Amino acid sequence: MRVTTPLDPAAVIAEFIDRVSPYNRHPDASPVAVLGVRTALGEDVFTLSDHVIRALCRALESYRDPEDRGDCSNCGGRHLDENLHCADCGQLHGILGQVIADHARRVAAAGDDPRSASAG
Ligand SMILES: [Zn+2]
Repeated sequence: MRVTTPLDPAAVIAEFIDRVSPYNRHPDASPVAVLGVRTALGEDVFTLSDHVIRALCRALESYRDPEDRGDCSNCGGRHLDENLHCADCGQLHGILGQVIADHARRVAAAGDDPRSASAG
C-alpha cells in the first residue's frame, strides 16, 4: 500500500506521543530527549519521556521498507521486485525462481547426456 496523502511528520510524531503516553508508568519523570522536526509544513520541538523515546525507537527498529524483499542470494543486491526478480543481476528467487533454476539444470543435464543425443 502506498501513502498518497501528504505526510506531516510533526503531526505524525505528535499523534504517536498521544497514543503511547497514556501507558507511561512514570508520567512525572523528567523528559530525557528533545526531538526537533522541521519540514516545509512547519517546525516543532517535542520533549520526550523515557517511555515515549523507547517506544519510538522500537517502532523505528521494527519498520521495514515495503520494497525490502531481502537480499539477492547471487549478487547481494537489495532490489528484488514483487516477483522476487533481482534488478541487479537478473536472478529469480522464491519458489518460481527455484522451479526455473531446476528446470534449467535438467535441460542442461539432458543436453550433456550423450544417450539423449543419440536416442531416436
Ligand atoms: Zn542479484
